[in-house]
Amino acid sequence: MTEVSAQAGATKTDILVAGAGSTGLAAALAFSRAGMKVALVGRIPPPLPGRTVALFEASIRFLDALGALDRVRALGCPIEAIRMIDDTDQLFPVPELTLRASEIDLPALGVNISNDELVGVLLDLVRARPEIELIEAEIADYELNSATAAAMLADGRRIEADFLVAADGRNSRARAVAGIDVREWTYPQVALTAMLRHEFPHDNMSTEWHTRSGPFTLVPLPPRENAPHRSSLVWLMSVADARRRLSKPRDELEFEIEDYAKSEFGTMQIEGEPGQFRMGGMQVSKHATGRMALVGETCHVFPPIGAQGLNLSLRDVADLEDCLASVDLRNERELSRALARYDRHRHADIGFRTNGVDVLNRSLIIPYLPVDLFRGASFLAVAALGPLRRAVIREGVLPHLVLPRLMRKPARAHAG
Ligand SMILES: Cc1cc2nc3c(=O)[nH]c(=O)nc-3n(C[C@H](O)[C@H](O)[C@H](O)COP(=O)(O)OP(=O)(O)OC[C@H]3O[C@@H](n4cnc5c(N)ncnc54)[C@H](O)[C@@H]3O)c2cc1C
Repeated sequence: MTEVSAQAGATKTDILVAGAGSTGLAAALAFSRAGMKVALVGRIPPPLPGRTVALFEASIRFLDALGALDRVRALGCPIEAIRMIDDTDQLFPVPELTLRASEIDLPALGVNISNDELVGVLLDLVRARPEIELIEAEIADYELNSATAAAMLADGRRIEADFLVAADGRNSRARAVAGIDVREWTYPQVALTAMLRHEFPHDNMSTEWHTRSGPFTLVPLPPRENAPHRSSLVWLMSVADARRRLSKPRDELEFEIEDYAKSEFGTMQIEGEPGQFRMGGMQVSKHATGRMALVGETCHVFPPIGAQGLNLSLRDVADLEDCLASVDLRNERELSRALARYDRHRHADIGFRTNGVDVLNRSLIIPYLPVDLFRGASFLAVAALGPLRRAVIREGVLPHLVLPRLMRKPARAHAG
């Protein structure tokens, strides 16, 4: 457990994790399992309407290492294939593309689970670990210097640590105090999200229609009592369309969703409330400095295309744990070498994903013939060439660029 330091009223620990979203919870678990004392400080996330996360093979392996996989598998639905359909009415027809787990000898590409359930699983594990002190509080400010990283809580408490893992989201106060620059931009889009019940089975396949307003994606969910066929929806559209659709009577919105899915899954029924999320992007000038590192949405934001966001955040965490594994946190030279390595890795991985998502998104919403031709040719090549298709699938679910050690060992086969 953390101890009370010489400074009056201050708690001293090895690692301070700021922010208790999925990324912060995973970071606390990873560092505690590596034998460190962790203080996890943050507000417990409120429920997110209609939101799920698709987590792919590398994240599945990481969740296994954290002891979370059995429950995630029990609550989620396997994604065995991803089908992509061009629905832009462009001049030259683009072939339909299906990427299957079996092509790279995996039983599934990943698991789709509701955001709230994932947070619940990670929170239960955090609460069960004596090395983690979970402090449900607001951080008012930070004090960062060459010897220590400290958080001042809104209730007056002070937490000191050898190292700060900033997981306090896109408006990170920790990042601002450290003076790390950000580049932000917006897209003229909103993601409408919902959990759906439908008539016909999804066969554990995720289906994406690429429309002129962005992807319309149905991701498989597990059955529930009286609801054998369920999926989550992530639908990118203009701000005006989102406003219009969300003010419609529920049955009309359901009918429009059925129509966008070409009635392939039959009639649609929305469970609970739909959600809406404004689309933007963000990159940072560096991913670590002094005695702190950024993970999750503190250092990357982009639209939910290809379900990369939290997968990337979990790679941040696993990579940071890797980089700091054999470092004496009090030795400044060792620490700065390890953080330079972390920054190099994250720069490459995050840059690649952010740019990839940006190019695909813009290629859909900007109707420009040469861009359409390029997108069409890329789909054609991936559909026709097995080795290229397998490389694309692998890069999406088990990236080779930087694969931290906690993501290298195949997960145990499903017990059930
Ligand atoms: C519509 C949509 C669909 C998505 N689908 C997928 C998907 O299928 N797969 C995927 O991998 N990713 C997906 N993502 C991305 C993924 O949801 C995010 O990357 C992820 O939720 C970010 O988690 P985080 O913990 O980094 O940030 P957050 O969830 O924002 O957590 C930050 C936490 O820090 C806390 N905090 C902030 N400031 C303070 C403070 N001063 N004191 C205390 N606490 C503080 C906040 O309260 C919050 O709990 C999707 C995103 C969207 C918008």
